[in-house]
Amino acid sequence: MMVSVARSPDPSHDGAHMDSAAQRAGAVLTVDLGAVVENYRFLRKRAGGAVCAAVVKADAYGLGVDRIAPALARAGCRDFFVATLDEGMALRNVLGLGPRIAVLHGAPPRAEPDCLAAHLVPVLNGAEQLAAWRRLARDRGRSLPAILQVDTGMARFGFSQADLAHLLTAPDPFEGVALGLVMSHLACADTLDHPANAEQRVAFRSVRARLPGIPASLAASSGIFLGPEFHADLVRPGAALYGVNPQPGRPNPMRPVVRLQAHILQLRDVATGVGIGYGHAAVAHRPMRLAVVAAGYADGYLRSASGRGMAFAGPYPLSVLGRVSMDSLILDVTDVPPEHVPLGGCVDLIGPGHGLDAVAEAAGTIGYEVLTSLGARYHRIYREA
Ligand SMILES: *Cc1c(COP(=O)(O)O)cnc(C)c1O
Repeated sequence: MMVSVARSPDPSHDGAHMDSAAQRAGAVLTVDLGAVVENYRFLRKRAGGAVCAAVVKADAYGLGVDRIAPALARAGCRDFFVATLDEGMALRNVLGLGPRIAVLHGAPPRAEPDCLAAHLVPVLNGAEQLAAWRRLARDRGRSLPAILQVDTGMARFGFSQADLAHLLTAPDPFEGVALGLVMSHLACADTLDHPANAEQRVAFRSVRARLPGIPASLAASSGIFLGPEFHADLVRPGAALYGVNPQPGRPNPMRPVVRLQAHILQLRDVATGVGIGYGHAAVAHRPMRLAVVAAGYADGYLRSASGRGMAFAGPYPLSVLGRVSMDSLILDVTDVPPEHVPLGGCVDLIGPGHGLDAVAEAAGTIGYEVLTSLGARYHRIYREA
């Protein structure tokens, strides 16, 4: 099936009134660009005086970077982060020259000229990347912008603090490199009272002291909520822009961005004792009415939600029965008034009263993975900001 991307906004959430492409698709994903922009403004405000960048890696967490990034740019965002060079090159084509686009993984070996040609700013994560960027600067006879990443306690990307100390003993360690930012990343920011947060903040302060005058960035979505001491000069939210709760266990301050509605393909009544779906992982414990809906693990409806996931038909909660299949799943609609679950109608897999984080929890994962798994078969509707 082709990926169908609706270019015209369709505010309808009612299966009966969807346009024909949406009606034809098994399931419809509605992305609210206005909510993304509101979330951006809210985070920018929470970050006080810090610049608010936007992390749009992995196709803007699965939501479509070619729609998300321009909406954020129109809302005043001038700094974008992607993970890979290819993502950066694609985003440059979307945004044109102007916004700063940083590549978190930096440039792969020998791809530095491509990075420069697309006006992308590499995050330098180690001595090899720094040396390669300095060589390119020397070859081009001018200084080249870059971001320096230092690891303050995650053991993932960046110069270790010892590497940095060693680096700074050299006469002109950043010759030819215009450092526009020094950054680090928090490992445990989603846990408010985790001791690693304060440790990383202290380590980051000493990193900044070694690089006076260079703007600094530490916080992603959750870090913004740890308080002003974490904001530095620039914050880098991703997930919270898209509605993921940056403070798990507390009320979600973000506006929901996605709604996922799946069509009911088949209804059936089964007697007590009937095995339901693959492996008969569920068995009807009473006479039951089942709805088979058009989303499965090939669409990113995670198989780990088998027997645990929930959907909604208006106010009525529906349990996922048995195993999630590749292209479908089975819901218990026994106690729902039939007019709420008509053949060809829609149920909410992600939606009001059943947000990303609840869906993630039922699948034993996090909202980030639910978003980045959203499938290519969904018909996509973008509601304009
Ligand atoms: C992904 C990422 C972010 C954004 O993180 P969220 O938790 O989605 O806000 C920020 N900085 C770095 C280095 C990242 O890898």
